[in-house]
Amino acid sequence: MTRIAIVEGDGIGHEVIPVAQRALELLHPEYEFFSVDVGYHRWEQTGCPCADRDIAELKTADAILFGAIMTPPMKDYQSVVLRLRKALDLYADLRPVKGDGFDIMIVRENTEGLYSGIEEIGPDRATTLRVVTRKGTERVVRSAIRLAQQRKGKLTIGHKANVLKSDVFFRDICLTEAKTAGVTYNDRFIDALALDILQHPDSYDVIVTTNIFGDIISEVASYLIGGLGLASSANIGDRYAMFEPVHGSAPDIAGKNIANPIAALRSAGMLLAYCGDAKGLDRIEAAIQAVLAEGIRTRDLGGSAGTREFGEAVLRRLRQTNGRT
Ligand code: NAD
Repeated sequence: MTRIAIVEGDGIGHEVIPVAQRALELLHPEYEFFSVDVGYHRWEQTGCPCADRDIAELKTADAILFGAIMTPPMKDYQSVVLRLRKALDLYADLRPVKGDGFDIMIVRENTEGLYSGIEEIGPDRATTLRVVTRKGTERVVRSAIRLAQQRKGKLTIGHKANVLKSDVFFRDICLTEAKTAGVTYNDRFIDALALDILQHPDSYDVIVTTNIFGDIISEVASYLIGGLGLASSANIGDRYAMFEPVHGSAPDIAGKNIANPIAALRSAGMLLAYCGDAKGLDRIEAAIQAVLAEGIRTRDLGGSAGTREFGEAVLRRLRQTNGRT
């Protein structure tokens, strides 16, 4: 029995995740689903956004479908998303950016770097420690290399080694691993890479980089596919996996039924591929494309369909291809 944990989280997570969950239920009625309620709203109610028992429950799932969690910029508030990625050791964050004539997979190191959590704020100085370890780098670059070998065989290493010693370390380990594995590889300064992805997206296959750089370039690259409402991701470790839209809780549009559910649907597709149903990923994508081709679009794509209406249209398509209309 495949068990899927559902975390809606905050904001538009409550709107886009139910759409994605229904797609999973439709394609796999035999899956068991259970909800885990974590997020900023829990902190407001109880003073604790995510308890140890929530993490223990998430660890019982075969995969997690996750919406988004609000992280208020407060001194003493610890990000739940970062805590989960660390607690479940989800060290590789896979962020696909695929469109007409390009197919990029950004692999972001997901447990250390500038998001190490080792930081302090004093009266006159604040510091955040950027930690890059051999273990953390080797395991993420090996994941990226395995992906490259299943794709076009090309790896690009994104870094800022001209300025940061920790990136000299990261780059050199990545170069050694790439050379040993026999993939085609190059390395680029991350700032130049951010622009070049937009100008020449067709020249990239797999890009591996450190935590914050991967966060930023994947959001920049989402411009190529229509923005944050369409960008999906998979956080993968050796034992656990969590699938989530790249976007956050979007408080500016939450509760208005205007969020685009495509990123959440695509994340559900990635979850299916992880659970052994690669065709499920293709079917969800085909249904999304068919609905877009009908001219049904949410507001961020220039249309007028609501989250629920777009979701219903995708589910209708999926039912048709399921042989049940
Ligand atoms: P955001 O991604 O929530 O929103 C950025 C912009 O994109 C907003 O204008 C929003 O309306 C738009 N947008 C996002 N998703 C959309 C969708 N599905 N359809 C249409 N438009 C969409 O980023 P933010 O505003 O910087 O952050 C809001 C909160 O989310 C913060 O508390 C932040 O910490 C949190 N956040 C959480 C995660 C996560 O849970 N993994 C990721 C990023 C941000």
